[in-house]
Amino acid sequence: MKAIPFNKPSIVANEVEYIEDAIKRGQLSGDGFHTNKCVDILRTITGSQHVLLTHSCTAALEMAAILCDLQIGDEVIMPSFTFVSTANAVALRGAVPVFVDIDPETLNIDPKRVAEAIGPKTKAIFAVHYAGFPADMDALTEIAQNSGCLLIEDAAQALGSAYKERPAGSLGDMAAFSFHETKNVISGEGGSLTVNRAELYERAEIIREKGTNRSKFFRGDVDKYTWIDIGSSFLPGELVAAYLHAQLQLADTIKKRRLEIFDRYTQAFSPLAERGRVRPPRVPTNCKGNGHMFYLLLNDLDDREAFIAHMRAQEIMCPFHYVPLHNAPAGQRYARAAGPLDVTQRISETLVRLPMFFDLGSQVEDVIDVAMTYFEGPKRAIL
Ligand SMILES: *Cc1c(COP(=O)(O)O)cnc(C)c1O
Repeated sequence: MKAIPFNKPSIVANEVEYIEDAIKRGQLSGDGFHTNKCVDILRTITGSQHVLLTHSCTAALEMAAILCDLQIGDEVIMPSFTFVSTANAVALRGAVPVFVDIDPETLNIDPKRVAEAIGPKTKAIFAVHYAGFPADMDALTEIAQNSGCLLIEDAAQALGSAYKERPAGSLGDMAAFSFHETKNVISGEGGSLTVNRAELYERAEIIREKGTNRSKFFRGDVDKYTWIDIGSSFLPGELVAAYLHAQLQLADTIKKRRLEIFDRYTQAFSPLAERGRVRPPRVPTNCKGNGHMFYLLLNDLDDREAFIAHMRAQEIMCPFHYVPLHNAPAGQRYARAAGPLDVTQRISETLVRLPMFFDLGSQVEDVIDVAMTYFEGPKRAIL
């Protein structure tokens, strides 16, 4: 049997051709032909009017943090069970990430915990859509509105997902997406920010263009451009956008393929799930996933480590996921925990991810077969 990686960056169609096209067009810096095409497609997928391409989701989260106008000592509520970029974006502004627990059903931020953690210094809530399943955005929106804070989607994993028929990216005041090679639609490194408050969009353009009104200048709205705000260089070049353009054109195909793999895993593990031996993802009510990730929750840390070792012995790579940020050295230095984080702790010790990528093909059966020998022992020959 061939080794099966956890992830393999996909080439789905015209990526190479589009990169050649970008070179022929003679503009390699950002905001050219392919960037504009990406933005058009992203508007459709996310249902958001204002989309800006960035060089990563990390960059988009940093832009969102600037747009939240975070001041030193302000607080932003987020899960501890997330990638470091969610917290870094806030810490970089001198503000304090406040970690709350996740819901054991969805592994998304628990709105009850958010409500308890809201205080006079709270300026925003950063909700992560874990495994591509949107967080409970209605409950979070109500809390955000009642407390006058902004609600940001860390939608890094959630391109093409939906909550109550509304697409991820249109659910919060802003949303950050990732096109890192481990995500569904990729460009190596890449990302985008959607801005759903018209009054924030002009500033978003300026922050992305090194704090200048260069975008306005190129549209002919002003006759020279100048430094008018803080900012940085958050935009990708056209070579990256060209690759992304080809991928975005097939975003539906990519999602469909990944959902097929997700469904196959779900079906294969359902007898074990019924016996309570494993806990696969449960699609939250009113949500549509995008097949970003398939995980299993096992009994405890030993069970999880033994499973990973069993799979690795057959060269099948099944990684665990987040080490909770509240326990991390920088988490202790720059952030604080609010309330118990028991669910976060337990999930981080018991969750394992199975290989999931566009070209997985029939190897999904090998993953399932090898996993089954862990849970049920080797198949006996039928005589
Ligand atoms: C992948 C990921 C990021 C970071 O994305 P980059 O594009 O690599 O910067 C941030 N948050 C979450 C939840 C992610 O999964």
